[in-house]
Amino acid sequence: YTSKGDQVRQALEHRFNSVTGNPHSEKYMKLLESRKKLPVYEQMDEFYKVFGENQVIIVAGDTGCGKTTQIPQFVAYSDLPDIKGKLVGCTQPRRMSAMSVARLLIVLLDPSVKLGAHVGYSVRFEDMTTPEITFLKYMTDGKLLREAIGDPDLRRYSTIILDEVHERTLATDILMSLLKGLVKKRADLKLIIMSATVDYLKLQKYFELGSAGRPPIFKITGKTFPVEIFYTQRPEPDYFEAAIRTVLMIHRAEKPGDILLFLTGEQEIEKACMQLELKVADLVNQDPDSVGPLTCIPLYSSLPPELQQHIYHPPPSRRTPDGPPGRKIVVATNIAETSLTIEGIVYVVDPGFSKQAVYNPRIRVESHLVSPISKASAHQRAGRAGRTKPGKCFRLYTENDFMSELEEQTYPDILRSNLGGTVLQLIKLGIKASYNLCDLVRFEYVDAPSPESLLRALEMLNYLGALDDEGNLTPFGAVMAEFPLEPQLAKVLIVSPEFQYSDEILTIAAMLSVPHVWRRPMGGWKRADAAKYEAKALLTVPHSDHLTVLKIYKEYRAHISNKNWAFSHHLSPEALSQADKARNQLQKIMERLGLAIVSISNEQRLDTNIRKVLVCGFFMQVANKKGENYVTCKDNQVVALDPSCGLRTKPDWVIFNEFILTTRPYIRTITQIEPKCALLDHAPTYFDLSSFPDGPAKHALQKIAITRDAAFDISERLRLMNL
Ligand code: ADP
Ligand code: MG
Repeated sequence: YTSKGDQVRQALEHRFNSVTGNPHSEKYMKLLESRKKLPVYEQMDEFYKVFGENQVIIVAGDTGCGKTTQIPQFVAYSDLPDIKGKLVGCTQPRRMSAMSVARLLIVLLDPSVKLGAHVGYSVRFEDMTTPEITFLKYMTDGKLLREAIGDPDLRRYSTIILDEVHERTLATDILMSLLKGLVKKRADLKLIIMSATVDYLKLQKYFELGSAGRPPIFKITGKTFPVEIFYTQRPEPDYFEAAIRTVLMIHRAEKPGDILLFLTGEQEIEKACMQLELKVADLVNQDPDSVGPLTCIPLYSSLPPELQQHIYHPPPSRRTPDGPPGRKIVVATNIAETSLTIEGIVYVVDPGFSKQAVYNPRIRVESHLVSPISKASAHQRAGRAGRTKPGKCFRLYTENDFMSELEEQTYPDILRSNLGGTVLQLIKLGIKASYNLCDLVRFEYVDAPSPESLLRALEMLNYLGALDDEGNLTPFGAVMAEFPLEPQLAKVLIVSPEFQYSDEILTIAAMLSVPHVWRRPMGGWKRADAAKYEAKALLTVPHSDHLTVLKIYKEYRAHISNKNWAFSHHLSPEALSQADKARNQLQKIMERLGLAIVSISNEQRLDTNIRKVLVCGFFMQVANKKGENYVTCKDNQVVALDPSCGLRTKPDWVIFNEFILTTRPYIRTITQIEPKCALLDHAPTYFDLSSFPDGPAKHALQKIAITRDAAFDISERLRLMNL
């Protein structure tokens, strides 16, 4: 008789890989030795006991103790020798983590285990798994939610692991609710909830299941070192400047050890890296005997995977054998807070901000805004300094502010996001939405969203024609829910064949679904900026950013055999190939639904029809020029055109894809429209002037309504609205 733990340890130590039958490599053995040192490995027997005796368990443990990389494998290996037909799915809130953990697992399990075969990942627009063969699958939470729409019982999975649950993303929250129901229905399904924070009592209570009671907590007790916390004496007026100053201070005065600086987004991070490199070069020039070399490594989710790997590189070596030691600094977004572990960090610089979703249902504006973090976040950030030895955390705010200004926990996304897409998915899943909201409100959320944001979501779906006036899913809405896109964009794609340009719209939808395609300049910044400006001008369509992305994609395809084309035009080959994948996937969905992919090559018609199609979906995102700025229709928000906008003039009416709040509100990805031919005809319910709030936009529209062609065919209009 041997225990599960013994069996699995034997399999791991065996000369042959139990999955592939190939001999284990030397590298595998070496990595196994380091895995054995992880806290989770030491608690393997305890894990199998708890996991074996319960249908639902909660795993809690500090970042870096081995939850993400080890637990899914423990579960998969517990089915040995007979893993046929078993599938373990592990969700991640971020696409980047799902992909990089799956890749790491290939290395840990042995190179003879192929990525996409035994172990794979699945993210939006990219599925690297093989049915029947894959037994361990890392995926985004959004992807699993999509799968649940196609198969509400998630029959393929034997165990589902929700990871990084403390991040409380929209999809993870909805999955928790769905899976709570599903485990009652499917006695053979196991569920593991994993979280890095200690606030698990709430989840334990939430998952209380009748006679089974509350799920047990499997706690992993990691070894961490003390971290000394420093606060500023006075509030810092400019956290960015303070962050740079603090990093330089650490580099000059503190003992060896790498630095982790938290900033809020790509632009800020790139700017910090540039400034730090220049300033350290200066310091080294002035004082080469005491200032060591410093490497800056940016880390954010749209960074190409090879560059992301740089965080695992060792720090730079001394310039001379007895010179000062080198140091590496990772400048990261929240992604380094809990989902990635970087070894060797001794100093953390925490300005106290991150980019967070904010949604104002009254004016229907969702955006990502730089906001103060919570105490729980600050605690996590500090913890990153104590992985390998005692560390220091420099908080760029006062102790008083920490105590009195920061919230205890970060708010879950469901309380501060536009719920349009989520509500459509819930309704498709069979949760009925009548306008008294009953079922949608009674749905067992971990934290229930406000009725106002649910109502706003229903209203939008009704305007889009996805729900009828009683809140029932229309056939059109059912088609919309098939697309892994926001509802507006899905609608644009579905109506595009009517306008004979679905081929082009397909490309635009794909390009809007990937991170921006302009590459981060490397080497000389100033020079690169000028060159990039030229390249950009060359590819810009002056009155439409939507047509600009179409043009970029077409040129990219036309030069596909020339590997240098993207680089020489300062475009990101990764983002473009991601767009390619997205396009293929969307095309497959369209073909499956019988939506024709058509195009007539006529530039003039393309121009007008593209605008009409955009209006069909994005009619709620229209702005009217007022002075130097724009005012959004109905909600009357004053906005400016984002600097990235390629429009050469400021037309009277524009339609936009994105609303962003930075120092002020901006709109991004813009196309000039003619209200005459578009707004009133293609979004008549929304632009029904009898119920339109009074204001300059209404007056302008009234004038147009009087003069426009009265003979507009009403049946044509209905056909467009309802497919
Ligand atoms: P948790 O999920 O509990 O935070 P992980 O399973 O992600 O912990 O990490 C366990 C260990 O694996 C970490 O200590 C880290 O050093 C190592 N690790 C994680 N990702 C990578 C990677 N991409 N490359 C090398 N080592 C990694
Ligand atoms: Mg993890």
